Amino acid sequence: MGSEDLELDAAIRDYAFSWLDRKTRGGHEALTWQDILAFSQENPYGVALALRPQGIFKPRVMSAALSIKTKPEEARTDRKFVYDDGTPIDGIARYKEQATNQTHNGWLHKAHELRMPLVYFRGITQGQYRAIYPTYVVGYDAAQGDFLLDVSQTWTPGSPVDIGFAPNAVEIATRHTKRMIMSRDHQEDFRAIVLAAYGTRCAVCELRHGSLLDAAHVIPDSDGGRAAVNNGLAMCKIHHAAYDANIMGISPDYRIHIRRDILEEVDGPMLRHGLQGHEGQSLRVLPTPRKWQPRRDYVEARFDTFKDAAPVG
Ligand SMILES: [Zn+2]
Repeated sequence: MGSEDLELDAAIRDYAFSWLDRKTRGGHEALTWQDILAFSQENPYGVALALRPQGIFKPRVMSAALSIKTKPEEARTDRKFVYDDGTPIDGIARYKEQATNQTHNGWLHKAHELRMPLVYFRGITQGQYRAIYPTYVVGYDAAQGDFLLDVSQTWTPGSPVDIGFAPNAVEIATRHTKRMIMSRDHQEDFRAIVLAAYGTRCAVCELRHGSLLDAAHVIPDSDGGRAAVNNGLAMCKIHHAAYDANIMGISPDYRIHIRRDILEEVDGPMLRHGLQGHEGQSLRVLPTPRKWQPRRDYVEARFDTFKDAAPVG
């Protein structure tokens, strides 16, 4: 086995989480495979974060797995850890063990034993990953051949890696934070997918500043709108708020309409350029492929709400 240098191991994890924090704005933005590869050139330890053909990855100098990853289709079907009555326990994900490579599975068992946090690269769409860190292996379901992961923890920049922190699955099952964790996870996925589809730009004004961008729902989730890319629009905070308040509408031909009373208002440059100036303009950014664009029937239903709020013409 060689001697275990747990201090080095923790230092590398610490470095990796801080690096991811910068690259993803605290876990909010998706990474491409190229981004993940760039880590190898940008860390002083000469290690990689993941390898393309491997689901479970451990650099040679480390004692336990540093990362795991799933493809989008696997991530979508990952089953939840459930109570006896079938109620899902949120914040816990299952990760299928490798069918043929016990060495790789051993790296994850080791992370469990040492309570070492790792990075979960969850495939969200082709070539895009969301980094979930710190992820702890909190259990192993031998009957199913699944590792149980706690994906509910948050990373505090500047704090040392919390070794030995991870509670076990039973402790988590007794926590009652379910709903909150679940919805946060869905919304984070939605945001990452939509922003990636729009190249991190506002569909209305092309603003590129990630921290000022949101993923707006076309059909609001309060009305049953799905957290799917074709029910989303990347928008800056101002345009998102204007869309939600029916100050701005989008017609099924993807044109922007500003409510009549707002058009007639006289105010400073934010009103003139930020809102009035977009009247009649087409959305400036739309994703390719076409199937990622907002569904016309969703946009139309939402536009009806806008028209009802203030009849146009
Ligand atoms: Zn905007």
